[in-house]
Amino acid sequence: MHEMALAESVLEIVAEAARRNGATQVRSVRLAIGRLSHVEPDALRFAFDVVTRNGIAQGARLEILATDGAAWCMQCSDTVPLARFGDACPRCGSYQLQVSGGDELRVQDIEIV
Ligand SMILES: [Zn+2]
Repeated sequence: MHEMALAESVLEIVAEAARRNGATQVRSVRLAIGRLSHVEPDALRFAFDVVTRNGIAQGARLEILATDGAAWCMQCSDTVPLARFGDACPRCGSYQLQVSGGDELRVQDIEIV
C-alpha cells in the first residue's frame, strides 16, 4: 500500500512548513493529485489519519483536488488533456501520446494555527 509512504512524505512536508512558520497545529492540508497518479484518495485519507496521530497535524482536514493529466500528441504536435492512461487524444483520436503531466502529487497549501 504505497499510500502509507505517500502520507508520510506529505506529513513531513507539512510538519516542516508548520515548524518554519512557528505553528502549533495544522488545521487543514490541501493536496493536488494527478488523475494519472494511481493514488486511491480514500486509502490516502486513511493513511493520513494514521500517520498524523499524536503529531502537529493531528485531526487536520485533508482536502484532495484531482488535477487533469496531460500528454503530448504527436499528431497534433500539441499538449492535450488526458483523463486516463490508454485513452486516445481527445482532439484527433490518435494513440501516439506521451504522458507529460498529471501523475504528480503536490501539497498545494496548508492552514496552520
Ligand atoms: Zn491529437
